[in-house]
Amino acid sequence: MTEKRIYNFNAGPAALPLPVLEEIQGSFLNFDGSGMSITEVSHRSKWFDDVINDAIDRTKRILGLGDEYQVLFLQGGASTQFCMVPMNFLADGSTADYVDTGTWSTKAIKEAEILGKPIQMVASSADRDYAYIPKDIGFTPGAIYVHVTSNNTIKGTQWADFPDTAGVPLVSDMSSDIFSRKLDIDRFGLIYAGAQKNIGPAGVCMVIVRDDLLERVPENLPSMLKYTTFVKKNSMYNTPPCFAIYTVQLVLKWLEETIGGLDNMERLNREKAERLYSFFDTSGFYRGTADADSRSMMNVTFRLPSEDLETRFVAEALENDLGGLKGHRSVGGCRASIYNPTPMAAIDALIDFMKEFEKTNG
Ligand SMILES: *Cc1c(COP(=O)(O)O)cnc(C)c1O
Repeated sequence: MTEKRIYNFNAGPAALPLPVLEEIQGSFLNFDGSGMSITEVSHRSKWFDDVINDAIDRTKRILGLGDEYQVLFLQGGASTQFCMVPMNFLADGSTADYVDTGTWSTKAIKEAEILGKPIQMVASSADRDYAYIPKDIGFTPGAIYVHVTSNNTIKGTQWADFPDTAGVPLVSDMSSDIFSRKLDIDRFGLIYAGAQKNIGPAGVCMVIVRDDLLERVPENLPSMLKYTTFVKKNSMYNTPPCFAIYTVQLVLKWLEETIGGLDNMERLNREKAERLYSFFDTSGFYRGTADADSRSMMNVTFRLPSEDLETRFVAEALENDLGGLKGHRSVGGCRASIYNPTPMAAIDALIDFMKEFEKTNG
């Protein structure tokens, strides 16, 4: 079957490393000598304890997290974090700053507003259809956190450097670029990421949270919406999404042992993105949509001269075993999502196809 696999440029759920899928295949009927599938073992068993603890240890090692950071696996996707963050950290009426860089940050802002939290939108790139990351932002003194979306999956922009917040902790939605590059971790109070972009299947959201912010969590929140519930129970207050967590564990193992860690991962990701963008820069046919200094290393968004050509491009690409190149339904155009598992060979195959398509249609 494996010879029929295509190059998968889906935005999420997205490509996973082949060795990870093969290991899952092996453990699917008999996990670690248990005589049971990984989907059948109890979350209260030694088997699953080892899985979740290894996933946490690897996360801490890869990102260089100190003991003041807790690693959680939650459900409800990244979207539930849009409300959990303000519910947990702004219970006493304090304020937080938000930067609006497109669909997902707009949704995060909306959820805080639904809860009636007095947040400030301190910058937005809505004026130019979110084609850039705002600069020179004035943050609010005394804010509890600054919320940013590190990579904008739909618009194809990414913070190259995080803004200077004068010591206010960053809270970042890293759904589409967690573990893709090194981080100055001390600047972050909380990081959250739906796994289905860069680190696993759908069904689990990784949350990394620092103890000083946990001190702000009020008692009177529903248990399932309170970070401290999951900190106390090692993410097993209720049944966790075991299979998704197991896959994340294997992806992190691949990242550490096969790729060789974050330095190497970042280098590979930069090379992949640069190869694709420099092709755009020499083409009069394909046009990148993001400003050059705000381009995403993970989601490469581009247009062709007409919508007709875009439709044909996406269909013919698939006939050539290059899948998932349609842009998000809200913006149209084309998008190649090139997360950690995407190999350089996929980039080269895509560029070859693009050249060929331009030759016959340009
Ligand atoms: C996909 C995505 C989300 C939504 O994630 P869900 O897990 O589906 O809730 C949020 N933020 C970003 C940046 C995303 O790419």
